[in-house]
Amino acid sequence: MTVTQGLPRDSSPEPQETDFDIVVIGAGFSGMYALYKLRGLGLRLKGFEAGDGPGGTWYWNRYPGARVDIESMIYSYSFDDTLQQEWAWPEHFSPQPDLEVYANHVADWFGIRDQIQFGTRVNRLRFDDATSRWHVSTDRGDEVTARFVIAATGSLNATNIPDFKGAESFGGQWYHTSKWPKEGVDFAGQRVGIIGTGSTGIQVIPVVAKEAAHLTVFQRTANFSIPSRNRPIDPVYERDWKQNYGKYREMMKSTASAAVLMGQRMDRSVFDVSDEEREEILERAWESCSGFKFTGSFKDIRTNIEANEIVAEFVRRKIRQIVKDPAVAELLCPKTHPLGTKRLCLDSGYYETFNRPNVTLVNVRSNPITEITPTGLRTTAGEHEFDILIYATGFDAMTGSMTRMNVTGADGRRLEDKWVNGPTNYLGFLVAGFPNLFMIHGPGSPSVLAQMIMSAEWQVDWLYDRIAHMLDRGYQRVDTTEQWEDSWGREVEAAANATLYKRADSWYLGANIPGKPRVFMVYVGGFDKLHAALHRGGAAGPRGFRLRVRDSRKVRSAPACGRGGTPSTPRPCRAGAAGSRRGSSSSPGR
Ligand code: NAP
Repeated sequence: MTVTQGLPRDSSPEPQETDFDIVVIGAGFSGMYALYKLRGLGLRLKGFEAGDGPGGTWYWNRYPGARVDIESMIYSYSFDDTLQQEWAWPEHFSPQPDLEVYANHVADWFGIRDQIQFGTRVNRLRFDDATSRWHVSTDRGDEVTARFVIAATGSLNATNIPDFKGAESFGGQWYHTSKWPKEGVDFAGQRVGIIGTGSTGIQVIPVVAKEAAHLTVFQRTANFSIPSRNRPIDPVYERDWKQNYGKYREMMKSTASAAVLMGQRMDRSVFDVSDEEREEILERAWESCSGFKFTGSFKDIRTNIEANEIVAEFVRRKIRQIVKDPAVAELLCPKTHPLGTKRLCLDSGYYETFNRPNVTLVNVRSNPITEITPTGLRTTAGEHEFDILIYATGFDAMTGSMTRMNVTGADGRRLEDKWVNGPTNYLGFLVAGFPNLFMIHGPGSPSVLAQMIMSAEWQVDWLYDRIAHMLDRGYQRVDTTEQWEDSWGREVEAAANATLYKRADSWYLGANIPGKPRVFMVYVGGFDKLHAALHRGGAAGPRGFRLRVRDSRKVRSAPACGRGGTPSTPRPCRAGAAGSRRGSSSSPGR
């Protein structure tokens, strides 16, 4: 019992602040860094995140086998040297739980967690032209206003579940890989069906095959996959990275993929070497590679169809060697698109899985799925029964997370309507008529074709400078015009046309969503080129950003603050197997 018992206490809740300078939507790696960095402007910030914890992609995609396809020494934050020196990644390609631990650690260590309202999805954004403020509404009933909104909503966030007839009639359990239950799924003794063989399907299939009584894989398009050769990180490799982090991170800035892929040969054509030498190079890359280095073996794989076909045939030969049943091997050989024009997959024993007696591959290109039934599904060739159905069917990529938010711009126009013929914007950031709304990894940016953590840091750093410039000069609004959008759109299109990318029916083109306009949505010109374009024009920023003065008062309200909530003594940090996880005050979701 305390002495205050019985005393009158004010039980009314603290009044909630509803007006902010900046609202950040999404607490993935981009949103978290935005909240951390923009704090330096001394403004009132608020973050909203639909998930119950940070991590974005690595919060939602907790399906078995989920693993990043960029090396972890690269795919990590660079903004704080203590963090990158102290953090120890156990494996070359981190599994989802390790990435989620890292996200939680960063959220706590840098005091970002307190700025975020979790479990809250923004479901309406409306710009008020009269006050130059965004009105932000959420599914929890929040109504707040902000001068700037930063949409760190992810390129691959809006789930795609094909509209199969009878889907609701299925009597078993069903899951989409990107909304996987935290408690996991027990496959023991179960018959499982998986639809989809993209990067996700290729990761989840080998794991489920080992646990389930039987697995049926429904494949519409065979994909190219390269063995990841994932392994624990050895101390020598780790030491080299940590000793040279400064230099390597700097090198990344000048690369198209915002990553250093040691051993990439951008000077050598497939045709510069003899057949024997080429075979030897590809063999070495296949055996020892770390994923995308394979396509870095020669400079013309992504641009020359003959060069591409030679390398593609090398991969098909590998598939035929690995898969024992020649008919199954042939079905797994990709023949519909050039290698690398859909995201090249990295796997851990994918092709080998089809040698298991409990795995069946079904061709739903020649015999499409006609309906889901109470006990499984039906194709034009027959019935398949299972207890659990997994949709590994991808995303309404690049635009879905924006259009599903119900965004209305300055003249009352909805973003969905503006983008009816495909997304338009300037430099991937700003949509004409939607002032002060900045996208990170938006359509027309390199997004998934550049390493997304560091490229997000650079985009946010650039935004910081833009907003600081506006505040210093009393500008209230920044917008762009449709002419500038058109010019950037032409550049995005020209960059894609210089490659083989458009020869595939990929999500890069919106081809995976029926009725979605076919517009190439990823800037393949490279992050280095975007970075250079963004920094043209110095402090005032590049041409095409229209600044508007409505109030000559400067709005900067407080001196730049430091790193709130940062403990003075760095704690050791390590992800990995339970027991060796330190440095995170909240445990991973599973
Ligand atoms: P995805 O690449 O779009 O693959 C979806 C799969 O579902 C495809 O095989 C697709 O077939 C199939 N599908 C869709 N609708 C279908 C229908 N009606 N009938 C039959 N099959 C259907 O999606 P994802 O595998 O989730 O990968 C998306 C992206 O996420 C990747 O490209 C990558 O950028 C990222 N990702 C990265 C990692 C990683 O870092 N390791 C892991 C997973 C995902 P079609 O090909 O014929 O359309």
